Amino acid sequence: MSLDGPYDPENIFARILRGEAPAIPVHEDADALAFMDLFPQSRGHVLVIPKADARTILDAEAETLRRLIVVVQRVAAAVRVALLPDGVVVTQFNGRAAGQTVDHLHFHVIPCWQGRPLKGHGHGQMADGDDLRRLARDIAAHLEV
Ligand code: 5GP
Repeated sequence: MSLDGPYDPENIFARILRGEAPAIPVHEDADALAFMDLFPQSRGHVLVIPKADARTILDAEAETLRRLIVVVQRVAAAVRVALLPDGVVVTQFNGRAAGQTVDHLHFHVIPCWQGRPLKGHGHGQMADGDDLRRLARDIAAHLEV
């Protein structure tokens, strides 16, 4: 995907937003959805996406980004309290050359522990569904309203 071009409404995150594809949610509000990454780089990897149609940070409306980053912060805080990581990586990729694989704007919230290297971006194995549901419940329970 180049940085230019139309938004594809059939991308997997758009399908998740429409309820056409499954996801394990952590948080949903009028502007954003946070859900567990199916191929996590570490246990507790969450994705935060806007409900607005945006492919990258470059074509998103400023107001979309303002609202989204606050949700990213809240999710990172909840991940911290729920899972007690030593650090939290927040990443975001734009275009294939940068490593973006799903063409709907998203932030990664990835907990990290000393001595436990992250799996590479795009190299995670599919996680166990029950474990993801447990993690989502734990993280959601620590989200401030
Ligand atoms: P990107 O590579 O575009 O920065 O990130 C896309 C992320 O979406 C990857 O971390 C990948 O593991 C995750 N992902 C891809 N397909 C699905 C899916 O169907 N469901 C969920 N929950 N995550 C997905």
